[in-house]
Amino acid sequence: MYCNAIILTSGGFGHDFGENGFLKEFVPHIMKFPSTNGHQSTGSGVKLGREIGADLVDMDKVQVHPTGFVDPKNRYAKDKFLAPELLRGVGGILVNEYGDRFCNELGTRDYVTSKIKENCKKQDTDILDQYECFLLMNEEMAIEFGHNFNYYKNVKGFILEHQNFYELAENINIDYTKLENMIKQYNHAYDKKIDKFNKTTFLYKFDVNKKIYSMIITPSIHYTMGGLKINSKTEVIDINRNKIYGLFATGEVTGGVHGSNRLGGNSLAECGVFGRISAYSAVNYIKNYKNSHIKYSSILGTIYVTFFELMIMVLVILKCYKRIGYFDNYDFRNDYLL
Ligand SMILES: Cc1cc2nc3c(=O)[nH]c(=O)nc-3n(C[C@H](O)[C@H](O)[C@H](O)COP(=O)(O)OP(=O)(O)OC[C@H]3O[C@@H](n4cnc5c(N)ncnc54)[C@H](O)[C@@H]3O)c2cc1C
Repeated sequence: MYCNAIILTSGGFGHDFGENGFLKEFVPHIMKFPSTNGHQSTGSGVKLGREIGADLVDMDKVQVHPTGFVDPKNRYAKDKFLAPELLRGVGGILVNEYGDRFCNELGTRDYVTSKIKENCKKQDTDILDQYECFLLMNEEMAIEFGHNFNYYKNVKGFILEHQNFYELAENINIDYTKLENMIKQYNHAYDKKIDKFNKTTFLYKFDVNKKIYSMIITPSIHYTMGGLKINSKTEVIDINRNKIYGLFATGEVTGGVHGSNRLGGNSLAECGVFGRISAYSAVNYIKNYKNSHIKYSSILGTIYVTFFELMIMVLVILKCYKRIGYFDNYDFRNDYLL
């Protein structure tokens, strides 16, 4: 392929589960986690960059999102649909198999994920590391979440509806009194505006006699912070800290932009901001650097061509002289022969 400049935007490697894949190479301990990423997220741009000497950074920094939906119809699927942050943002609470809350649901993704791993049961399967817990929401929360709630509930079938907490306890197989105590404590924290996990934002109270929604969620690979090393102009940097001329990269294919863990919502901002910088850099490169580079290389090219032409001319002349016996009359001597 010939082109003036390349901007790599091929995304991350959050579904690169192959034997020779990046997940196995850099984070083998999470290879059995499910993923919210599509099958196209294989880090092909990162691999391409590495092949031509690009430096890679933060390849072991992979974000595991705390809440991927467990589909009741296909419980152990490797691919999970993302259960968005907003489900917890409008007040949804996380509860383990004993009916206990175990974290501030509004904490960062890595915090909530680590709490789920500490406090929730890992399912008994050889193929997946699936730590499951329940996310509970009431009717007010569902309404505040908006119309997508019905999409997850009615179209995707991820959310179950229960008429009250008695029905919930029966359906998810948790002792009712445990759930009732947990809700009493939650409502008490709502009044005090703080709980034992230092959660200070409470939007709605729960009522054990009213409708309640439940969904099962599990931590899933979501975003890869590592990738190609770039500078502030999005130029790709090689292992000797030099720019790879004409090669730019933007988005999840790059590494180092978000540090060791990305805050939710920042990826699309990054794609917009750095995408624009990449476009400017590539255009500038084509306009400025490449012109001078072409001049420089064409001077070199002219020297090479002239040199080879001269060599060929000399050979042809020598051959002609030999053919006409010009050298036959000469006796070549060097110091030794003399
Ligand atoms: C379910 C989900 C929800 C998310 N929600 C948010 C959110 O709300 N806010 C936020 O900021 N971030 C969110 N993210 C993260 C964000 O979507 C991604 O980080 C972002 O889309 C990355 O953009 P990108 O252009 O770098 O890569 P991608 O969007 O992955 O695009 C890469 C493209 O390159 C193509 N490609 C890959 N390899 C090749 C190849 N060899 N040849 C040709 N084409 C190739 C792929 O098919 C794909 O079309 C979410 C991610 C997921 C998975």
